[in-house]
Amino acid sequence: MSTDNPAQPTAVVVPAAAREHVADLGAFVAASPSSYHAAEEVARRAEAAGFTRLAEDTAWAVALGGRHVVVRDGSVIAFTLPDAAGPTTAFTIVGAHTDSTGFKLKPKPTTHGAGGWWQAGVEVYGGPLLNSWLDRELELAGRIVTHDGTEHLVRTGPMLRIPQLAIHLDRGVNDNGLTLDKQRHTQPVWGLGDAESADVLAALAADAGVDPAAIGGYDVVLADTQPARAFGAGQALFASARLDNLLSTHAGLTALLRAGGAGSIQVFAGFDHEEIGSASRSGAAGPFLEEVLTRISSALGATVDERARAFAASLHVSSDVGHAVHPNYTERHDPANRPVAGGGPILKINANQRYATDAHGAAAWSVACATAGVPTQEFVSNNVMPCGSTIGPISATRLGIRTVDVGVPILSMHSARELTAVVDPWYLARAMESVFAR
Ligand code: ZN
Repeated sequence: MSTDNPAQPTAVVVPAAAREHVADLGAFVAASPSSYHAAEEVARRAEAAGFTRLAEDTAWAVALGGRHVVVRDGSVIAFTLPDAAGPTTAFTIVGAHTDSTGFKLKPKPTTHGAGGWWQAGVEVYGGPLLNSWLDRELELAGRIVTHDGTEHLVRTGPMLRIPQLAIHLDRGVNDNGLTLDKQRHTQPVWGLGDAESADVLAALAADAGVDPAAIGGYDVVLADTQPARAFGAGQALFASARLDNLLSTHAGLTALLRAGGAGSIQVFAGFDHEEIGSASRSGAAGPFLEEVLTRISSALGATVDERARAFAASLHVSSDVGHAVHPNYTERHDPANRPVAGGGPILKINANQRYATDAHGAAAWSVACATAGVPTQEFVSNNVMPCGSTIGPISATRLGIRTVDVGVPILSMHSARELTAVVDPWYLARAMESVFAR
């Protein structure tokens, strides 16, 4: 029960365990301003729990009962082998994505605007709600690679801002709607003064402790720096950057770390590049998961036939955020299937296989939720509002493993700061733990 504002009625009572879960989610988001940081944070937490890290370019010593984690760029896979695993042992996979929509630093990133402003050149990454990025303190975060091939994770802390035009200079904005040109109106400011001394890359190099001249390449995004927080009646709401999809990444990892022994090989996979279609060497359309599963199978002595039998008995639960019914736009949702915030995770269904859920997957999910004592609800689009897609159909197409798409209903998807009910990420993690126990 909240004491922050005792005059307000408590709309819902949030269990202490759910509060602890989202507090940890907030810490995970803060540690993960880029997909590279998110993959590293997953690996760091797994290693702290006793997992050992595997390098892709070395031979793997994978033994029964082993727990391991492997990072490829902004993607990460962690897995637990049961003591009794064999060549036909099935995989239970929970998948999510590590990237979020926003902006990425361009080449020649230091630019100079009128009025002495230092600016940075950025590209749009995926499909962000552009307006939500205005007037926020942003940081640069990602990786730089020096000429010797060494990769450095970097983050600057609050450094930039995309300033909105004053209403006095845009009198019709509240009547005509805000229209942002993706090039002209999205370039952040980050300083004032002598143009010669401005250097975005020098700020990144300073964070890495390297000479700016040593930078050979970089993958760097903008990230919102405002910490996540619970708020509202009963402190039942939770606002944070990058809930899409660090919410699922955190839930999947938490479930894997908590899962006890089971008959199947337990796998958590977090993929980069979902927001731009997943087609990359580390994305869900690439070979990363297939290669890791195959290397595990090989370590267990599986033949091609035995690996196919293991895949045929496997299950992939792909989790990503979905849409709670928005109270101001109820007509945008299906009239009968109306996910509510706080009502538990959603099972995502789409006739055109934008979600991979089928009858068998739906049944497996419903059993997992019932076993965990977690409520669940269904999401399907209004027919005139086509839904997005997820890693589910992409990895199902690649691997042939039965896949079910699930998630958590949120508001403001692809905003720089999204909104969930406090209980739903906790429900999702518990349901995933139950999936791992199958
Ligand atoms: Zn997503």
